[in-house]
Amino acid sequence: MILQERPYIDFHTHKAVHAGEDDVMEIVSMHQHIKNEADWLTLGYHPWWLHEVLTKEALNELSTALSIHPRCLALGECGLDGLKGATREIQEQNFEAQLAIARALSLPVIIHCVRQFDRLLQIRRQWRDTKWVIHGYRRNVILTRQLLDEGIGVSVSPFPDMNSSFTEMLHFLPMESFTSKQTVTTE
Ligand SMILES: [Zn+2]
Repeated sequence: MILQERPYIDFHTHKAVHAGEDDVMEIVSMHQHIKNEADWLTLGYHPWWLHEVLTKEALNELSTALSIHPRCLALGECGLDGLKGATREIQEQNFEAQLAIARALSLPVIIHCVRQFDRLLQIRRQWRDTKWVIHGYRRNVILTRQLLDEGIGVSVSPFPDMNSSFTEMLHFLPMESFTSKQTVTTE
């Protein structure tokens, strides 16, 4: 089944009501229990809001929700944040526990990563068979090359004070990686 024909995905809108451009598919980031059946969504435990190691029950709940929600496309956001959230050890444990769920369910993972890219690349070694996309990506060409070499995707969007390093990185990204048509399909 092809889920959508629109070529671009907004990975991180907070709009509660669909108001997108015709060629943009929106994935809504929202708090639990707010329902909007019209939108595609992703589900995951964000590192900002976790202060403890996730319990088995919490992981089972996520796994079940991901399995049964008809409009859920991926696991996420999850990941590592060097400025906010729990200790590095707790964040990494929670991140890898969610990667295991994504692997078991063959779901892509939308990754939140702030100032932890070295560690992210190390962790990647054990998870190369899972599909990762880093959302809100703004880093330079050198790091981007490393990520693409590891098979990691990035999602990019314009922002008010775009610098030359960001635009240089945009030019570096392969043209064919700018549409979602090949990837957003499922059996
Ligand atoms: Zn994020």
